[in-house]
Amino acid sequence: MQQFKTESKKLLDLMINSIYTNKEIFLRELISNASDAVDKLNFKSLSDSSIQLGDEDLAIRVSFDRNARTLTVSDNGIGMTAEDLENNLGTIAHSGSQEFKQANAEHQGSDVDIIGQFGVGFYSAFMVASRVRVVSRAFGEDVAHVWESDGLEGYTIEEGERSEHGTDVILTIRENIEGENGEPGENYDTFLSEWGLKDLIKRYSNYVRYPVQMMVTKS
Ligand code: ADP
Ligand code: MG
Repeated sequence: MQQFKTESKKLLDLMINSIYTNKEIFLRELISNASDAVDKLNFKSLSDSSIQLGDEDLAIRVSFDRNARTLTVSDNGIGMTAEDLENNLGTIAHSGSQEFKQANAEHQGSDVDIIGQFGVGFYSAFMVASRVRVVSRAFGEDVAHVWESDGLEGYTIEEGERSEHGTDVILTIRENIEGENGEPGENYDTFLSEWGLKDLIKRYSNYVRYPVQMMVTKS
C-alpha cells in the first residue's frame, strides 16, 4: 500500500469527518471529472482522424447496486495509466481543494458550509463512501489499472481489466447512521435509490455538455 501525501491526508480527514450537510455534491464532482475525461478524448479526436467516437463515448453513466451498496460513475473518456492514477489520485494538486483547505482552516470549528463554494474534487467521494475503487484504462493502452482506497491511510494500484478506454469510479456507500437523543442521523441510502439519484443527476447534468444516463437494472 502507498501512503497518501500529507496534504492529501489532511483533506481526506476533513472530508471524512465533515459534518457538511450537502454531501451529495460528491456526485457533481464525479460527473464533472467524467465530463472532463470525455472532453479530453473528444479534443484529441479533433486533430487525429484515426479516433472515431460513438455516442456511447460521449456520455456519462451512473448506476447502482443496492445489495452490494455500490454506486458507479462511468465514462469512456481518456482514462488513466497507472502513473496517472498515482499522480492524480494520490496527491492533491488541484486548486479548488487548496482553497477549500485554506478557507476551512480560517473557519476553524464553525460550520463547514464553505465546501459547496469550491470544486472539492474526487476526494469528496469519501464523504459518502467507505471505499472507492477506480478502474481505468488509458486511451491507447491495452491494460487497465485499479486504484483502491478507504480514504484513511493510503491506496493500492494493481493491474485490472476494462474492455475499453475510460474510467469507472465505484463507491461503496456508507451504512446509514441512526440519530440518537433527538439528533438527526445520516442517511446514505438515497445514493442507492433511483429517485434519489435521478433528482441529483437532473440538478447537476445542466452543467455538463454530455448526456448523463442513469442505468437501472430491474431486480
Ligand atoms: P480536478 O478535477 O479539479 O482536477 P479532482 O480531484 O476532481 O480535481 O480530480 C483529480 C484528477 O484526477 C483530475 O484532474 C484528473 O486528472 C483525474 N481524474 C479524476 N477522475 C477522472 C476520470 N473519470 N477520468 C480521467 N481522469 C480523472
Ligand atoms: Mg474534478
